[in-house]
Amino acid sequence: MSTYKIVVAPGDGIGKEVTTWGRKVLEKIGQVYGHTFTFTEAVIGHVAIEATGNPLPDDSLEKMRASDAILFGAVGHPKYDNDPSAKVRPEQGLLKMRKELGLYANLRPIKLFDELLNASSIKPEILKGSDILFFRELTGDVYFGQPRERRDNGNTALDTMIYSRYEVERIAKKAFEAARTRRKKVTSVDKANVLESSRLWRETVQEMAKSYPDVEVEHMFIDTAAMKLIKDPRSFDVVLTGNLFGDILTDEASQIAGSMGMLASASLGDQTGLYEPIHGSAPDIAGKGIANPLASILSVALMLDISFNLKKESEVVIWAVEQTLKEGFRTGDIADATTPPTHILNTDQMGSKIIEKMGQ
Ligand code: NAD
Repeated sequence: MSTYKIVVAPGDGIGKEVTTWGRKVLEKIGQVYGHTFTFTEAVIGHVAIEATGNPLPDDSLEKMRASDAILFGAVGHPKYDNDPSAKVRPEQGLLKMRKELGLYANLRPIKLFDELLNASSIKPEILKGSDILFFRELTGDVYFGQPRERRDNGNTALDTMIYSRYEVERIAKKAFEAARTRRKKVTSVDKANVLESSRLWRETVQEMAKSYPDVEVEHMFIDTAAMKLIKDPRSFDVVLTGNLFGDILTDEASQIAGSMGMLASASLGDQTGLYEPIHGSAPDIAGKGIANPLASILSVALMLDISFNLKKESEVVIWAVEQTLKEGFRTGDIADATTPPTHILNTDQMGSKIIEKMGQ
């Protein structure tokens, strides 16, 4: 019997609606398996700006540092999306959290549940059996590089794409090690034909590959990878890439799994791990109670597995999701023409179904 300290940071929009169910799933695991999960809430994003003027107040950061794992929702609000001049923005809270907690490796498993083969716009025969694990570098690249500024009276803007050998090595190591537990293939994605930072990326991965002779390594340009992901998703096992390319490719890859609402992620460094759906705050559906909570619930499965090494508990959560989908239940985003209206659930109904299954 163990005790785990969890910080819940719901953030904005549907963040609160979905993390509520991630937390309830942890509570259920606690009841069934005799673990104690204690929960502390932390504000981040637009809600934190409204409350304190700061998208990630020190108090939130301190709570996060003191926790065993963080369950995060999403940040973002249309107010800022449509006002590029806003100096204080919700996303600053997200980037600061990743940087301050040293969360340099973002793991995004893209696994298609067979039941959702028809939910994707890609043909089922292309998709069936797809199982990709992305390693997106999370604390470097053009998102953090300096200088980033306006020049020429605001008429010219620049960002800096920058990587150090050390930053590439530490994420590549995680990707190679993960590949050893899977189908032993790493696809490293860059733009080495054009970008100097990508040439360093490729050179570093090539050097590291020598230490993993049992792992097949291929190097692919980002443009080719974007095309191949849709053309032949089964050809990928582990994908290793930088922050910007990973951001774009993983959203594209979400269509393999049917919806953004299905995809979980883990952000890891050397300390506390953070678990979150890959989707944003979805202002178009926020407050309607129809968001798919499965990405948050599957993020909890990743937390149980990676941060707490509770493999059986993690498998039970995934099993409950699988069974619920097998019984034909869907939220709106993953329903198709064959889903009976009686089986289209809202957020709370889907969350309750999963909890019910876990008790069986
Ligand atoms: P989004 O992921 O919020 O939504 C994209 C589309 O997917 C929308 O149509 C939305 O309704 C749908 N969707 C997303 N999650 C869903 C779920 N769980 N169930 C059902 N449908 C779901 O991306 P966006 O619209 O480009 O961005 C909205 C805001 O979120 C922006 O402010 C953006 O900056 C922010 N954002 C935050 C994060 C994060 O916090 N990690 C990630 C991406 C975007």
